[in-house]
Amino acid sequence: MKDVDEFKTWLTDRGAEILAPTNPYEVLRFRSSRSVSVIYQNNKGRRSFTGEASDAFDAFKAGRKWTAGFNRRRYYGGEKARLIETLLARDGNECCLCGRPMPDDDMTVEHIVPIGAGGTNHQNNLGLAHEQCNRKAGHMNAVAKMRLRDELRSAQP
Ligand SMILES: [Zn+2]
Repeated sequence: MKDVDEFKTWLTDRGAEILAPTNPYEVLRFRSSRSVSVIYQNNKGRRSFTGEASDAFDAFKAGRKWTAGFNRRRYYGGEKARLIETLLARDGNECCLCGRPMPDDDMTVEHIVPIGAGGTNHQNNLGLAHEQCNRKAGHMNAVAKMRLRDELRSAQP
């Protein structure tokens, strides 16, 4: 796959480490300072992306800037960085409210049910959101938040 081969070079030039695929459906696996990301391709040629793969591939195609060098642990601190990594692995890099990708330095942990309303710090009650979206959601209850989520998503160009 020519585009993937060029993407590999592009990633390497930006500090990412290309890793060996672990199964036949992986067309590309790479590591940045933030995470390990994979591009899968099924029998029908349909691709799916994990971690930063989609963000990086979009940047590659659009000629946008991207670097593998952002150090999440340094930026957020170890404990929060680990939580962010867990949530990224589960949910991908989209804001749980507006659905848009989150830049490396703009990830906040959103409580779906606020602590004040009986929500917990368990991962089931957590998602990642832009700081601005998180602030908009404030202490809204879960239903109001679902409405906000719909609003933010329908407001997209
Ligand atoms: Zn958002």
